[in-house]
Amino acid sequence: MKALTYIEHDKFAMIDKQKPTLQNPQDAIVRVTMSSICTSDLHIKHGSVPRAVPGITVGHEMVGIVEQIGDEVMSVCPGDRVTVNVETFCGGCFFCKHGYVNNCTDPNGGWALGCRIDGGQAEYVRVPFADQGLNRIPDSVTDEQALFVGDILATGFWAARISEIQPEDTVLIIGAGPTGICTLLCAMLQNPKAIIVCEKEEERRLFLRKHYPKVLACTPEECEAYVLAHSEHGGADVVIEAAGTKDTFELAWKCARPNAIVTVVALYEEAQILPLPQMYGKNLTFKTGGVDGCDCGEILSLIEQGKIDTTPLITHRFPLSEINEAYRIFENRLDGVIKIAVTAE
Ligand SMILES: [Zn+2]
Ligand SMILES: [Zn+2]
Repeated sequence: MKALTYIEHDKFAMIDKQKPTLQNPQDAIVRVTMSSICTSDLHIKHGSVPRAVPGITVGHEMVGIVEQIGDEVMSVCPGDRVTVNVETFCGGCFFCKHGYVNNCTDPNGGWALGCRIDGGQAEYVRVPFADQGLNRIPDSVTDEQALFVGDILATGFWAARISEIQPEDTVLIIGAGPTGICTLLCAMLQNPKAIIVCEKEEERRLFLRKHYPKVLACTPEECEAYVLAHSEHGGADVVIEAAGTKDTFELAWKCARPNAIVTVVALYEEAQILPLPQMYGKNLTFKTGGVDGCDCGEILSLIEQGKIDTTPLITHRFPLSEINEAYRIFENRLDGVIKIAVTAE
């Protein structure tokens, strides 16, 4: 089969590989019908994910059809359309039992697909712990509607959930990239009084105005004053930092009111400064980290009910055979790209 493979630093290539086979009784083999490219794939390509293993098939955002299951798989059957979770988790360890699946203690726990084991920018993928890693897609939900459930939408849902948004809150989301927009969609489900999105690129602010006219959009330069003018207690009640660029962590805590929750889902390339003397008395609560992606069933149900729609994020479509061109566009942010759907031939 064809599989986009991490060869070495700065080099991915489409190569022929053996179709994956079941290795454990909890595995499933999924025929990938649609995948996408994530910024994390670029991080692997550029060498900033040291645990990524050369030779693995990349890609961790995908949907497909179950082709084969191991003896112990109970929740899906061959022929089922499924979303695939970016995280591998056993379901039985201390962290899994508490819903902290990102820290599953299994050797393959956490982000393994398309990083430490073969992923889904290929014709087929082997999914370990299939009962945890796969969710059946309702018949009325299309592949494009379900494409982001296992990764960026799970992240947005988790970020909104742990931020404890209340109806009277002003919520600030920093960054209107794919994860920021997924976070926005999930924050909107909580019906806070106001949502402000801070985004530096004009093209993405226009995207926000077009698709989500009730959401307030501002630039990083005007953000502090803008939040002050649109909140009642000297800053945002909840801040979600989904940008991860040089000054956005500082912006996040500066825009928060005293006693606010600041949730950091961004992945930084450098260490950040937490200036405790300067923020003494502000009494902020910081929540940080990588998604605990265990709400995919609930997310699919919200999509089925028409409450979440991420299809406007799909700006480009390519077949798997043209994935190199898709990467070129995504990596260089050409042609207004937000997300790309990569289809089976
Ligand atoms: Zn990703
Ligand atoms: Zn576990």
